[in-house]
Amino acid sequence: MNEIANKARAAGVVGAGGAGFPTHVKLMSAAEIYLVNGAECEPLLKVDQQLAVKYAPQLVRGLQLAMQAVGAREGIIAFKAKYVEAIAAVQPLLASNMRIHILKDIYPAGDEVITIWLATGRRVPPAALPKDVGVAVNNVLTLINLARAVDDNAPVVDRTLTISGAVSDPITVTVPIGTSLREVMARAGSITVAKPYFINGGPMMGKLLDSIDQPVTKTTGGIIVLPEDHVVVRRHRQPMQDVLAIARAVCEQCNLCTELCPRHLIGHELHPALIVRSANYRDMGKPSVLLSALTCSECAICEQWACPVNISPMRINVALKAQFRAEGARYVGDLRPLDPMAEHRLVPTSRLVTRLGIAAYNKKAPLDESSYSPAKVVLNLRQHVGVAAVPVVQVGDPVQRGQLLADIPADALGARLHASISGRVAEVTAQSITLTA
Ligand code: SF4
Ligand code: SF4
Repeated sequence: MNEIANKARAAGVVGAGGAGFPTHVKLMSAAEIYLVNGAECEPLLKVDQQLAVKYAPQLVRGLQLAMQAVGAREGIIAFKAKYVEAIAAVQPLLASNMRIHILKDIYPAGDEVITIWLATGRRVPPAALPKDVGVAVNNVLTLINLARAVDDNAPVVDRTLTISGAVSDPITVTVPIGTSLREVMARAGSITVAKPYFINGGPMMGKLLDSIDQPVTKTTGGIIVLPEDHVVVRRHRQPMQDVLAIARAVCEQCNLCTELCPRHLIGHELHPALIVRSANYRDMGKPSVLLSALTCSECAICEQWACPVNISPMRINVALKAQFRAEGARYVGDLRPLDPMAEHRLVPTSRLVTRLGIAAYNKKAPLDESSYSPAKVVLNLRQHVGVAAVPVVQVGDPVQRGQLLADIPADALGARLHASISGRVAEVTAQSITLTA
């Protein structure tokens, strides 16, 4: 393992964009291009675009380190044109082998596969990885964390997230990992609707939370509050049998979900209209049509934007993915020609915001990094891709912020976990470690 990857491993750096893939593993593969995904294309989330302004030197330093680790000849930072302050902060710091790629304000510009295509012209085949086309990708916060890990030996102990939607004071805050979401919510003033529902992530790709009495993790990018009757909430709460019944009853085979599917547009076999038809009449589809659900990015364009009769092809894909993964099934398929209209069929964010009924919530959520010291944190042992970290502390042990709490098992994929507050170990379970101040 190279020294940069080694430091990322020691610091517990993982992909902060949502997946939580251990960064040290990514830094051990060769790539020609290192791409910073600064699109942050989910409406209402305002984390990376603000961190890029405040921590521009660390972002560029993180990119330089990542490029060095993988032997990349070029570094690209993909920002939307509207992130004027971030572009102005970063541009003067770039080395001669780095450049900014300006993205239009379209969705899903931040879907990694789409960002790679837009910024490099390279298309990742279905079921392949960015490294298969010579590209490595991380988001803004991940590379800032990498710079801190290498230059300051600083472990990942804080997380920046946006609280937005139906709250009086939308805000972007940095808190110790493990802080209760309920406590973080209080930083955004009061909730302005009678029956609030909470989305973990953005309104398009986020997941409905059962409860906000759960901790912030390394991948928590935002919490969106929406009223009970909001279309996004209603879609999340729709039982699967209703999703299937509606699909069977009203699908008019208009094909719009396929024509606007970003993955289909760039040449993947993924064909949501055919998957809906195959799910309705199980024996009609080619096996590869159904299996291609495994390549769905869950961007929600098919259901939140394309379908004129409120069918949810993505929900059907998600159910199929769970079934196929349980069966150990894999999708194999070639990259097909690019749709010549591909770029023009991606969705303008402004129109998406209107369609989603969130225009009234699309406000600034200013970055507030005043320090916050919770009395208790709960640190999940698995907040990354791979196996759970193994505790190296016991109940009653005193700990200092930044101290190692749990390590990666030998020869396994995973990430280390560190104390996000100073205090004492209050509880150790198979799922988490609780610290009290
Ligand atoms: S969610 Fe729908 S539009 Fe998005 S990749 Fe999957 S099938 Fe395509
Ligand atoms: S967009 Fe809706 S109605 Fe049209 S094919 Fe897709 S699921 Fe059926």
